[in-house]
Amino acid sequence: MRSLPYNSLPSIDGIQLTIKRGDCINTEGSGNKYWKLKYNLQQAMDEKALGLLTFGGAFSNHLAATAAACARSGLQSVGVVRGEEWADPQKKNPTLEFCKQKGMQLHFLSRSTYRNKNSTELQKTLQQQYPNFMLLPEGGTNALAVKGCAEVLTAADHKYDTICVAVGTGGTLAGLATGSTEHQQLLGFMSLRYTGMAERITPYTTTSNWQLIHDYTFGGYAKTPEALIAFINNFKKKFKIPLEPLYTGKMLFGIFDLIKTGQWRWGKNVLIIHTGGLQGIAGINQRLAKKGQPLLL
Ligand SMILES: *Cc1c(COP(=O)(O)O)cnc(C)c1O
Repeated sequence: MRSLPYNSLPSIDGIQLTIKRGDCINTEGSGNKYWKLKYNLQQAMDEKALGLLTFGGAFSNHLAATAAACARSGLQSVGVVRGEEWADPQKKNPTLEFCKQKGMQLHFLSRSTYRNKNSTELQKTLQQQYPNFMLLPEGGTNALAVKGCAEVLTAADHKYDTICVAVGTGGTLAGLATGSTEHQQLLGFMSLRYTGMAERITPYTTTSNWQLIHDYTFGGYAKTPEALIAFINNFKKKFKIPLEPLYTGKMLFGIFDLIKTGQWRWGKNVLIIHTGGLQGIAGINQRLAKKGQPLLL
């Protein structure tokens, strides 16, 4: 992979913010999913698996990235999708269309069945139906994903005293923690309301230089209040950097808010990891349009 661009924002109150543009990864499975999938793809090929089988919602960045990465690696992919209504061919969405175009086989489950996605019973059934596929959990976090994310930070990034990232399942934060130096502080901005996240992350890393910020979930995963959409649109106009509202938009909103309100108590040389996810914008705009809300630019 070519090296990623960085964008520095004008400093605010003496705090210098630099964005590492993971969204510019030169493949369709852009953002953090590139690193999360890297060693899982390797493992599937080493095991001579037919491909990857994984789980996600109908707008999932993880499903899109898995479909693209498998296609690129000559592997097959199966996406287990939350919500059987998406099996209706009349009901289209850009993410699932992209997945299909990449050759992903979609397997739709009702929301109640999907809730048991981690049960051995459901996994056994899927494994029988799709023999020789390597199973990846929803969001793609496992030890191999964390190993890949430990490579997000390079030697050039050791000069930053603080590193910010958005958190969904925590694999990316765990990898960053593993790849950071002990004088660096990591802040993980939660995208969803979940108090058990720290316990989920701890087994994946031996360092303790990280903490979670729970104040900018905007009420929960995939919530898109107008204030957040307006912030993202402004940010794009001002800095020419696109964000999406599920992860990176919430994080940047949080960073700016913490600084503006005088609550920023971390370093002054901050690296912000852009984890991508821009494929989701088209689907989010579809939903915003239905609700008559302003769209993302
Ligand atoms: C998946 C995703 C995340 C969350 O990564 P985790 O490793 O699950 O915490 C953050 N940002 C974007 C854009 C994502 O697609």
